[in-house]
Amino acid sequence: MSMRTLFLASAATIVAAPAIADVNIYTARQPELIQPVMDAFTESTGISVNLAYVEDGIVERLKAEGRRSPADLVMTVDIANLKQIVDADVVQPVDSDVLSAAIPTELRSDENLWFGLTTRARIVYASKERVADGEVTTYEDLASDKWEGRICTRSGLHNYNLALTSAMIAHHGEDYARDWAAGVRENLARKPEGNDRAQVKAIWAGECDISLGNTYYMGLMLGNEDQRAWADSVRIIFPTFENGGTHVNVSGAAMTKAAPNRDEALELMEFLVSPAAQAIYAELNNEYPVLEGAAVSELVAAWGSFEADTTDLSAIASERPNALRVMEEVNFDG
Ligand code: FE
Repeated sequence: MSMRTLFLASAATIVAAPAIADVNIYTARQPELIQPVMDAFTESTGISVNLAYVEDGIVERLKAEGRRSPADLVMTVDIANLKQIVDADVVQPVDSDVLSAAIPTELRSDENLWFGLTTRARIVYASKERVADGEVTTYEDLASDKWEGRICTRSGLHNYNLALTSAMIAHHGEDYARDWAAGVRENLARKPEGNDRAQVKAIWAGECDISLGNTYYMGLMLGNEDQRAWADSVRIIFPTFENGGTHVNVSGAAMTKAAPNRDEALELMEFLVSPAAQAIYAELNNEYPVLEGAAVSELVAAWGSFEADTTDLSAIASERPNALRVMEEVNFDG
């Protein structure tokens, strides 16, 4: 083929093909909780976004697809899941001044392999009737006698509680965390069972006075006719570590190694940390923006403000095997 023919062929292709590349995302988040912010991106850039909901097994899928994966980005929740994706070696670093400037260092990988986009705090839901103002103080205090028979929580082996225990280890070391976990276990009103919302239901039903839960569940319960009464029976209290702030985790994104549409995917990542997108994305999920100064929704703001713990999430994630051992040693769920 001569240069001239090649040129004509390319020109014809350009006319026939869609003008704009898509960004393809594998997401473990409900697509309806992401779609509106993607629509805002498409509106502002003309780049369309395909969301493929992969409830479980994103890592396995990316490994199987290898270099031929159509996915550009992975979006998921919890540092444990982000770390699993990184450890599987299916993502690539993204060096972006925009991302580095927008996201606090503790909420992104120092090798630029994952990026937190929103945060959720792990807090205490406290009975409005049976818990006094100021009674809930620190995470450490949850092991004190005053809470005997008053605490409900989901499994100690769930990612959310493992991250909290990991953070306790990061603050005080494993021996302290083991005593703490044993103390909290002693204070449980019942064996760990159910999800975070089931604990609030138990408070509503009078089985316990406080529970551990993530902040966004308050929004979910208020939006659910059957659960609104549970939500109305509690207040959100933001405990802190004795030597730190309130424990937070992230929802985040990572770029796949394959990333066939790398440039567009980067454009999307950078869009997602813009003030407007941060506000939309956080509001859709009843979460907190990572970008300082980005708007918090009215509902979420009503829960009160707090100082987030600044322990590096990667450091917390690296304590996970130790946290798992601690929870098993104290037989937390038994
Ligand atoms: Fe959750």
